[in-house]
Amino acid sequence: MSDCDCGSQGAALKPLEEAIELMLARARPISGSERVATAEALDRVLAEAQTSPITVPAWDNSAMDGYAIRTADLSEGQNRLRVTQRIPAGSSGEPLGAGEAARIFTGAPVPPGADAVVMQEFCERDGDTLIVKRPPAPGANIRRAGEDIETGAEVLAAGTRLAPQHLGLAASVGIATLPVKRRLKVAIFSSGDELVMPGETLAPGQIYNSNHFTLSGLLRRLGCEIIDLGQVEDNFEATRDALARGAGEADLVLASGGVSVGEEDHVKPAVEALGTLDLWKIAIRPGKPVAFGHIGETPFIGAPGNPVSLFVTFCLFMRPFILRQQGVSGDLVPPMLSAEAAFDWPKPDKRREFVRARLETGPDGAARVSVYPSRSSGVLSSVVWANGLVVIREGQVVRRGERVDFLPFSELLQ
Ligand code: AMP
Ligand code: MG
Repeated sequence: MSDCDCGSQGAALKPLEEAIELMLARARPISGSERVATAEALDRVLAEAQTSPITVPAWDNSAMDGYAIRTADLSEGQNRLRVTQRIPAGSSGEPLGAGEAARIFTGAPVPPGADAVVMQEFCERDGDTLIVKRPPAPGANIRRAGEDIETGAEVLAAGTRLAPQHLGLAASVGIATLPVKRRLKVAIFSSGDELVMPGETLAPGQIYNSNHFTLSGLLRRLGCEIIDLGQVEDNFEATRDALARGAGEADLVLASGGVSVGEEDHVKPAVEALGTLDLWKIAIRPGKPVAFGHIGETPFIGAPGNPVSLFVTFCLFMRPFILRQQGVSGDLVPPMLSAEAAFDWPKPDKRREFVRARLETGPDGAARVSVYPSRSSGVLSSVVWANGLVVIREGQVVRRGERVDFLPFSELLQ
């Protein structure tokens, strides 16, 4: 029996995890890479692990503005030292002799001989004389050489999607350029004879194409290069031609609309004519049908045309697939939060539901999550209202005040 239960009414719905696993097992990371300036590497995927050419900090340095001292010089009744040098950040001092102190500033190298820094707040000055009112323990306020990074240590793993802190860490060890995966090329099209682009006038029966904008925005966030195949007419030839062109030019083809099995849905026969297709009915709401296939080596994922279904399908299937193709390593499933439900969900369902939801902190400081009143997958304003998705599991009922799983958009859309 094939995986495809296309169209067969009442056929078993595929569990979500199984569908994601099947898809990800077929994702092949792209191989090409290029070298870019560290400042330009934001959101790119690191192609090779990076090791540190230096030790950080390179030398013991002061964690405070204060005085570098030798703790052995201080004892009960002896708290006076002579200030013999001044070491601002960016310079280096002379060895510290017995009975001496060095005025020192945060980040400046601790001079040889000193074994602690005393905060300036715990001292008094009388000309060149320093009076230490609270003697520090040996080692106090010194950041040790190598405390952060040893020479040769791996600082960034291959497959890391580079966030600002990764660029900062690379820069902190002097790495000026980084090898990153080339951008993933993604061909997209929208099927539907009813679609027109904003800027045009709507004729009766027409609607504006919103999926193009949602999808291309989502892809840009992931750093993809978009090959826009535009709007494709609801017929077999046009759908087949768009698919063939996308497969020839891109690493991945994504489409919205036309994935059902009505007579106006041409994605299934067109992919089958060119390659192989699995059309799954997945046990989720919204977004039940998802098409996944290959045209030659190029994968294809088709989402339903309903704008909310497209959005959820992207978050659940397209996004992890893209991350894997981009060469991102590790867990691709975003972490979920647990939040208090400010709603009741009395009716259990066989499908897992991803409910447009909004997490807010109340005046009492507690974070509670509410859900959008409409469950229609055509209501795109619900996604704008929401800041995440509540996940209602198969068979789950929820009473106000219970904890529910919440997937914040901040995890899904970065
Ligand atoms: P389909 O999946 O083609 O059966 O479309 C399902 C619903 O989504 C229909 O109401 C379509 O008009 C609508 N739809 C399809 N594509 C788009 C699009 N690109 N933008 C906005 N709505 C769409
Ligand atoms: Mg359609």
